[in-house]
Amino acid sequence: MKTFIHKIIESRRKAKMAKLLEWRRSHIEYCIKNSDIKKEDLIPLTDEEYDKLVSDLEEKVKKLKTDEPEYTTSDFKMPDGSVIRGYTLRNIFTWREIIASMKGRAKDAYYIKNRPCKKCGEDNTVFFCFRSSDESWRELCGREGYMLICPDCLTILGFVHYIMN
Ligand SMILES: [Zn+2]
Repeated sequence: MKTFIHKIIESRRKAKMAKLLEWRRSHIEYCIKNSDIKKEDLIPLTDEEYDKLVSDLEEKVKKLKTDEPEYTTSDFKMPDGSVIRGYTLRNIFTWREIIASMKGRAKDAYYIKNRPCKKCGEDNTVFFCFRSSDESWRELCGREGYMLICPDCLTILGFVHYIMN
């Protein structure tokens, strides 16, 4: 039998969960708004797909010579209409950090429809919640946001943060 206090606990727990979901939804919406990704193109990964993605990534990263992922910037449209093509550079985050984040965070990740990788052309790009390492937060350069990666050629294709310190 449920006592009154149990009902209160349950309703508080539900409210807390709703708040958490709302908080997460507002973050992903903010990140989409600040990227060129369309909301209708997001396909959520199931928990199994997420776990497989992380373990496949981990295996691939183990074989890399360097732990620093490459980062390919978006094409940039100038006011006169001309376009500066995206370019590739070394990224500030490491794969070790990205994988640690994927393992430690809520499993919130999406495939992006019709969004092939600019580098290798594979159509498996993933947009997911990323939080930089505890060390980066201690050093006041922590970032949390959504990151777009190509798991095929291990390239970061974009990152939009919603929190930094
Ligand atoms: Zn790629």
